Amino acid sequence: MTESHNDFSSVPNKSQLSMKADCENCFGLCCVVLPFSASSDFARDKDAGHACQNLQSDFRCGIHNRLRESGFRGCTVYDCFGAGQKVSQVTFEGRDWRRAPGIREQMFYVFPIMRQLHELIWYLSEALTLRQAYPIYDALSLALDKTERLTYLNPDSLLELNIPEHRAEVNKLLLQTSELVRDEARQRYKDSLKRKKNHGRGIDLIGANLKRADFRCANLRGAYLIAADLRGADLRAADLIGVDFRDADLRGADLTESIFLTQSQINSALGDADTKLPPSLTHPLHWFDPDKKK
Ligand code: SF4
Repeated sequence: MTESHNDFSSVPNKSQLSMKADCENCFGLCCVVLPFSASSDFARDKDAGHACQNLQSDFRCGIHNRLRESGFRGCTVYDCFGAGQKVSQVTFEGRDWRRAPGIREQMFYVFPIMRQLHELIWYLSEALTLRQAYPIYDALSLALDKTERLTYLNPDSLLELNIPEHRAEVNKLLLQTSELVRDEARQRYKDSLKRKKNHGRGIDLIGANLKRADFRCANLRGAYLIAADLRGADLRAADLIGVDFRDADLRGADLTESIFLTQSQINSALGDADTKLPPSLTHPLHWFDPDKKK
């Protein structure tokens, strides 16, 4: 469902590459399983478990090249982290919910579980690329192996998984990684860094004027930065896991060295060629196309 281009350097690691959505090998699961409400992101309401009216019989989107112009901006932002193709081709071995309606309900319940597992794999894979995380490398590797193995379980076993418990285990390691990365960066920036601010998880900065703000080494986990003005802001070495960047203005902002930032978050924001991203992420096409900006 996402759109991006590769005019800028992009070096996702091997595990993260397999987490890229491959819609060609998916049975349109996000277009069926997820509900959406009529809003600036979706042109109309859709209930969970009902196919979007734009989903064609070949599981392709009938308006793929004009999603934004057609009022389906949310579809260009959503990322399944490769869960769609895993459920379609591995868990259900290429059987699709249209030709095999008997698997429909089970497949639709499995998809969000797989998405959570794949999202955790994305974060763990990133953590393993960070030299600062070396002290907990073994624990991260074990957690990644375990999470990858879980994605190959059969449908019944996947549905029995205690996902909140597994997420909590992984989250502890991601928090440790975050501390290691930000502590090391704080040492490097100590001469220019002001007193450490504690932003707290899920801080509400919706619509805030944060132009040229210094967020280096900040913990912004789960922060609401919807429509915030972050032009020229410095977010180097910040923990950005789960930050809501919808419509945030990132023009000229520096997000290099930030951790746990995803393409989906970037796709939901505004930016330009001067926005500096971590090397695994790309500048979305709509940042440069006046017809697709909204
Ligand atoms: S508009 Fe296209 S991409 Fe979005 S849910 Fe419908 S079929 Fe899927």
